Amino acid sequence: MADYIMPNRMDRGFYQFQGEYEQKAIEVLRSGWYILGKELQQFEEEFAAYTGSRYCVGLASGLDALWIAFRALGIGKGDEVIVQANTYIASVMGITINGATPVFVEPDEYYNIDADRIEEKITSKTKAILVVHLYGQASHMKPIVELASKYDLRIVEDCAQSHGACSEGQMTGTFGDIGCFSFYPSKNLGAFGDAGAIVTDNPRIAEDIKMIRNYGSEKRYYNKVVGANSRLDEIQAGLLRVKLGHLKELQDERTAICERYLKEIKNGALILPKLREGSTTVWHQFVIRCRRRKELISYLEENGIGTIIHYPIPPHLSEAYSYLGYRIGAYPITEMYADEVLSIPLYNGMTEEETDRVIKYLNLWREDDEGEQTLGH
Ligand SMILES: *Cc1c(COP(=O)(O)O)cnc(C)c1O
Repeated sequence: MADYIMPNRMDRGFYQFQGEYEQKAIEVLRSGWYILGKELQQFEEEFAAYTGSRYCVGLASGLDALWIAFRALGIGKGDEVIVQANTYIASVMGITINGATPVFVEPDEYYNIDADRIEEKITSKTKAILVVHLYGQASHMKPIVELASKYDLRIVEDCAQSHGACSEGQMTGTFGDIGCFSFYPSKNLGAFGDAGAIVTDNPRIAEDIKMIRNYGSEKRYYNKVVGANSRLDEIQAGLLRVKLGHLKELQDERTAICERYLKEIKNGALILPKLREGSTTVWHQFVIRCRRRKELISYLEENGIGTIIHYPIPPHLSEAYSYLGYRIGAYPITEMYADEVLSIPLYNGMTEEETDRVIKYLNLWREDDEGEQTLGH
């Protein structure tokens, strides 16, 4: 049998630009400067320019970007933050680490927050909307920006999966007060370890977040607030600069794979992702839906194709949030998605032969009435 196709792999992406990454890593190692140096400063300038923001502040992870963003906005205990119910749990932890309460909203058919269901959730305690651009596709920002302005709410964007995706031509991360990014290795702009950043146009927010990431100090050993240690180190910043220089071609490569998937996967038992008019996607994941997901997973596995579920347990039903008191049925669309979604293989450096095989086996799969899957010919 041909080699197993992993749902995601990072080694191929490394070998695409191996020489440049190795050169940069050695350069930083030999420089003798490893934290808060010139690589980070240059990455911050380059990533701010890439997103069209005035400021970027590098941080240690995407989760840190989220909770430090809410902290900088003064959102915490007694405050409510609206967020889509079908997100990765880190979005919700970014809200609750500060003591604020998440208020969940069902997603639309593009897996992003359903803007029509936001207004009914706004109360006197609502302080912000956290918009997650899930799976790489930009959310429909226009109505969200209008609601935020009508009710004087902050907008924070979780762009951990959407580096470079646009809504009506404007880049995600730039619609509200703060855009939060993760550079976890499997993200579209992935480092070789943990890393994250915020972008903002507000100089005060940028300064505050710089202070928070470094023990609450602007001046060494003079600590203004109880901060954190959340610095993006020089090696990761340097490697991210290398990858940012290739991001356009890396995105084009993902798009080409996903356009083949969209065109060539033909199986009535599978629901393919839909693209919203006016939004672009950077294809963080290619997520299909299937009623008999368990059988589909084993069938693909038997044929050497790995898959992942993003995400099997929605945050409101996770043990970590049992204190919020939600029961099964609270968010039916979210729960249906959690039961049906499946991410098929997608990564930079994926070969044409691998893409062919994924398409072939998905097209051969048959869902029969007994729930027994057989190869149809
Ligand atoms: C990955 C991710 C995060 C968290 O980023 P880390 O760098 O892993 O902390 C937050 N939100 C979403 C939507 C993510 O996909």
